[in-house]
Amino acid sequence: MVTEVTTEISRRKFVAAAGLAVAGACIAPRDLFAEEDHLVKDAFKVAATAKIRVQALRRNISVLLGPGGNIAVLTGPDGKLVIDAEIVTSRPNVSAALTAINADPIKQLINTHWHFDHTGGNAWLHEAGASILAQENTRKHISKDTRVEGWHYTFPAMPAGALPSTVFQEDYTLHANDSTLVMKHYLPAHTDSDIDVHFLEADILHVGDTFWNRNYPFIDYSTGGSIDGQIRAAEANLAKVTDKMLVIPGHGEVGGKADLLLFRDVLAGIRDKVAALKKQGRSLEEVVAAKPSAQTDQDWGNGFMNPARFLGLVYQGV
Ligand SMILES: [Zn+2]
Repeated sequence: MVTEVTTEISRRKFVAAAGLAVAGACIAPRDLFAEEDHLVKDAFKVAATAKIRVQALRRNISVLLGPGGNIAVLTGPDGKLVIDAEIVTSRPNVSAALTAINADPIKQLINTHWHFDHTGGNAWLHEAGASILAQENTRKHISKDTRVEGWHYTFPAMPAGALPSTVFQEDYTLHANDSTLVMKHYLPAHTDSDIDVHFLEADILHVGDTFWNRNYPFIDYSTGGSIDGQIRAAEANLAKVTDKMLVIPGHGEVGGKADLLLFRDVLAGIRDKVAALKKQGRSLEEVVAAKPSAQTDQDWGNGFMNPARFLGLVYQGV
């Protein structure tokens, strides 16, 4: 069931509004990457007005699909538990969407990793009453100035209230609202701070940015990510997924086993092609021109990552 809280905004519209969509063919990769200087700032701007869609999943669990990372919401007598915190400027719309579900207070926040589109609301959610839980590298990165070269942007240290008060290294289990939540740290993947959160009884798995459903992923080499790590995490997700499991990606629609399989295959296929071209001595410009991702560019390259930028991140790691 999908409930429209406000008018839906599609990912493509969001990107077009942000001015991030780039027609790749006639622009040299160097020019494409110059746009990254504005990418984070544009995301702040767009998120201020981008609408949030609420989708009920199973039991007392919903997902908020908005401009940044997908938020899972678990409701019940213990108050709301949310997974991820969106971009900071989306606060009014996230807040309205949470209130639309019910009036219960927000008690717990879990961050799937440290990025600004998943931790941006940490401070206000904490002020609203949430304790924050994350993998220890999330706290490490958001507690000090952290540069992401892939975005040409340095994120300033967050205030004390935005930092996780509880962190763990590898595993953590939490009980709330008649649900068991099992968290596990991935080997370095999209970053070095990625975790998944498994709602055992509902069989729902939030995998953060280790899975972008039908979108090319951003890969953060500055804090431990790599294309091989991203593929390794996709393999780990496939090893865990069941036929009936619902999988919440960091970005894109809620999916399942077949979508995870497709994501792994697309990433591995492009990685192998780019690696072969690089081995032949091709420059990044030549690799982009060879269009090794042509098969999926139209469907997968309209979001946060256009094909040339994604190929640049793959090239960097092979
Ligand atoms: Zn991320």
